[in-house]
Amino acid sequence: MAMRFSILGSGSSGNAALLVTENTRVLVDAGFSARKLGQLLSAIGESLERVDAVFLTHEHGDHTAGIDGLKKFPHIRVFANAATSRAVQDGLGHKPDWQIFQTGSRFVFRDLQVESFAVPHDAQEPVGFRFTSGTDGDLFAPRRSLVWLTDLGHAPQNVRECIRECDVVVVESNHCSQLLQADTKRPWSTKQRIAGRHGHLSNAAARELLAAVASPRWRRIYLTHLSRDCNSRAAVELALADVRATLAACEFSVVEPGESTPFYEL
Ligand SMILES: [Zn+2]
Ligand SMILES: [Zn+2]
Repeated sequence: MAMRFSILGSGSSGNAALLVTENTRVLVDAGFSARKLGQLLSAIGESLERVDAVFLTHEHGDHTAGIDGLKKFPHIRVFANAATSRAVQDGLGHKPDWQIFQTGSRFVFRDLQVESFAVPHDAQEPVGFRFTSGTDGDLFAPRRSLVWLTDLGHAPQNVRECIRECDVVVVESNHCSQLLQADTKRPWSTKQRIAGRHGHLSNAAARELLAAVASPRWRRIYLTHLSRDCNSRAAVELALADVRATLAACEFSVVEPGESTPFYEL
């Protein structure tokens, strides 16, 4: 096994996942309070004490709400680019152990190779990640990659190239465009922002991206960051029905708000 992976939660009320390799445990985003993160980790037999680092995609609260409470866990390093770290630091009462990377760079943390790539979203310098661990030809820990891609208004060419070479894709399928337009809770300007080029991927946009790239290497796709009001499991499944049929060897998993996923071994 090269990696194990569990989504602790996904959606506008919080996003976080745990990635475990032979030599490290990292969180991807920390969008729940530290207390809640501790509870979510405990439910899968893990704890914040055992987490080595957090990788942040961008500064929005649904991805960073737990950073303040992590002051009780000073051993946890926080990886982000400079613009994201500045934006998060502004709201903190302590200084985390920041590990600053350049967007687009590749680096190694313990036995995890990390690549970040720019995504179009209304934040300072939002990124997606590709995490790789293991070795080609190693039967026990073969080389495996996972892409984390949430919070983007559209998928430019660089994103399409990044998601092709990986085994697992975690991708946003935020809203159903019809449900968003019909929604009465949100003002027009908010709807425009969500649906815009720097907002969130609709179900149709997620479908288009997966259908256009359709990598034979993919083994599992998680559809995440679903809007509670403007999306549903049924709407995502309907939108993705044809691409699911095309990618018959690939498992699809829709992650609803408030749901955690069991460990998946890559
Ligand atoms: Zn978000
Ligand atoms: Zn965001």
